[in-house]
Amino acid sequence: MTAEIHRNKITVKGLVQGVGFRPFVYNLAGSLGLSGFIINTSQGVLVEVEGVWAALETFGEKLQSELPPQASISSCQSLEVLPKNETGFRILLSDCSGDVATLVSPDLATCPDCLAELFDPSDRRFLYPFINCTNCGPRHTIISAIPYDRPSTTMRSFTMCGKCREEYDDPANRRFHAQPNACPQCGPTVYLLDRDGGKRVEGDAAISAFCSILDEGGILAVKGGGGVHLAVDATNDTAVKLLRERKGRQEKPLAVMFPDFAEAEKAAVVSDEMAKFLRVPAAPIMLARKKSGFHISSQVSPHTGLLGIMLPYTPLHHIIFSRFKRPLVMTSGNLSEEPICIDNDEALARLGGIVDGFLLHNRDILIRSDDSVLMEAAGAVRFIRRSRGFVPRPILLASDGPQVLGVGGELKNTVCFLKEENGFVGQHHGDLQNLEAYGFFQETVTHLQNIFDAEPELVVHDLHPGYLSTRWAKEEQSLPTLAVQHHHAHLASCLAENREAGPAIGIILDGTGYGPDGAIWGGEILTGDCTSFARKCCFEPMLLPGGDAAIKAPWRTALSYLRAAYDGNLPDLDFLAGEPVAPILAMLEKKINCPVTTSCGRFFDAVAAISGGRKVIAYEGQAAIEFMEQASGKDGATYGWAIEEKGDIFHLSVRAIVRQVAEDVLAGVSRAEISGRFHRTLAVLLAEAAELVSSLSGLKKVVLSGGVFNNHLLLELLAAHLTEKGFQVLTHLQLPPGDGCISLGQAVIGRQYLIGGRV
Ligand code: ZN
Ligand code: ZN
Ligand code: FE
Repeated sequence: MTAEIHRNKITVKGLVQGVGFRPFVYNLAGSLGLSGFIINTSQGVLVEVEGVWAALETFGEKLQSELPPQASISSCQSLEVLPKNETGFRILLSDCSGDVATLVSPDLATCPDCLAELFDPSDRRFLYPFINCTNCGPRHTIISAIPYDRPSTTMRSFTMCGKCREEYDDPANRRFHAQPNACPQCGPTVYLLDRDGGKRVEGDAAISAFCSILDEGGILAVKGGGGVHLAVDATNDTAVKLLRERKGRQEKPLAVMFPDFAEAEKAAVVSDEMAKFLRVPAAPIMLARKKSGFHISSQVSPHTGLLGIMLPYTPLHHIIFSRFKRPLVMTSGNLSEEPICIDNDEALARLGGIVDGFLLHNRDILIRSDDSVLMEAAGAVRFIRRSRGFVPRPILLASDGPQVLGVGGELKNTVCFLKEENGFVGQHHGDLQNLEAYGFFQETVTHLQNIFDAEPELVVHDLHPGYLSTRWAKEEQSLPTLAVQHHHAHLASCLAENREAGPAIGIILDGTGYGPDGAIWGGEILTGDCTSFARKCCFEPMLLPGGDAAIKAPWRTALSYLRAAYDGNLPDLDFLAGEPVAPILAMLEKKINCPVTTSCGRFFDAVAAISGGRKVIAYEGQAAIEFMEQASGKDGATYGWAIEEKGDIFHLSVRAIVRQVAEDVLAGVSRAEISGRFHRTLAVLLAEAAELVSSLSGLKKVVLSGGVFNNHLLLELLAAHLTEKGFQVLTHLQLPPGDGCISLGQAVIGRQYLIGGRV
């Protein structure tokens, strides 16, 4: 009896190009004795397989269960068609027609197979800095269009040699259609330039020279995956200090790349969950607690117990660490606050005054992408900055809809294209307050639009009229626009990421967001969904003397909050000694340049300064971070608080809490206890407020969003209280809680607006 032959036509969508999917399918079909073909299409991948039923069933199962590590399937539809009596399984050339909907892979850290070859003296790619395969190598940063084929990458200028071509064409080879495939004969090369761009040494000699400059305490630029890093010996105080001076970065922590995982673990506490993220494929920066007996320079991350650790992720990094055995500071190649350099000439022009040499190469980076930053909090690893290794993986939404572009806020800007059920959030741009960052923003919009063939119908921007992203939306492009309130975008973003429609209660805590009343919002409890929102609670409105000037000098904010708390009769606190108190008080009295704020970030700044923290900060959030790190859980006490009804909104205590903090300071209570009490108080107060809003609205879902939730202590305390009260708590797991999530929120609100308008 001969078994009956069937044929299935399978359409696969998802992350299936540039991740070894076709060789996987080729080998799988071969092993099951199935005939047919596979082809990359602009929609994803099309597979036809023919054979006996049992083999087809196994094929269908293994297609999902044995997927290559970097691939992911978002939809897989199988249809039975008439058998064609083919023999053998073939990989067909890509079909470029039709709508482009394939997902582009993020850059992938060097895989274990390539690493083994890299250090195998008998391998033809022994110590070759551009080794890669279908499981690793650059992707997003070198691609200009899809389908993902070599001509649409920056590898187009290198012609493969015979041996590379054979690998590339052989479906059984792990370099089959690995677009950046290269070897020392045919691929890119590294070279070292001195600070003026002269004296070129190539290849191995370049790496040796690089390592001896590091040994001598020099600062070097090194071209990595998503841009140029500045590298110095992380154990050399003088070198790190010099880097800070030249880069204009005073105290903000610097990330450290360790030779390997064992070395990283000597310096910092790494949980199993963190370890999973640290390794391939994304290899981000992970914030981890420093261990005692720490051998890294104290200049690397002063005044904090945390250290940003990272592992080598390009072959060049691995080669460097095979010679230079100490950890390296690896920080973005830029002057403070400017975007990372990617272009060789750009690096020479912008970094010439900072470095003692440049280790560059001739494979172009098309789009810059900083290292991502994550930390573990409230039982999960969460984003602080989402970039290289994760972008442009989509946030999978609950539903399809019209295409929309969200252009984000001003700080920690990202943009987001919605297409079908995907939210393509681009990489972190930094603060759109300088022209370079604004240029980077524009590059990303164009790049994402190209690689996803996006055609948005609407551009959504922040309500703030002065943001560069708002101005771009209104003045630099011709599509219809929609303004969305900042905290509404936070709420919608967290809902969308959790594939929830809402409505929900949103506890949105951050530094700054433009309110419809012109005030600076930032400590809000909203109710709403993607259609609309209502403001139910906020912190008591306070005055911010000098606006942005107060953000940089928390003592000013503290003075304002104390003045309000004590009705002008200031208590005698040490932190005000020697400060120009009178002019600030006069400013507050006359309300000159004193915007009204409900910001939670400023509340933290004020309390941190009153309790003896730094009066002026070197980077955003510094005062609050240091305050949190000191928190003690010893006495378990909380401050008294109140929720007051003010018309149609409830005000949460600020003045009463500030007074109790000041009294603790006067009574000599330690800063650690004050911090612990403050955190616990906020958590209780916010949970009670949520319960109040719930009793009025009937809502039992709570969304937590806003940059203050980078404070893991508050996040953990509040989430625990809310859970205890029976709330379903939704937090950010795929995007940062800070303003990097705004663009997704804007875009989903915009999509809902279009859908609503069409009904
Ligand atoms: Zn590899
Ligand atoms: Zn070659
Ligand atoms: Fe925000």
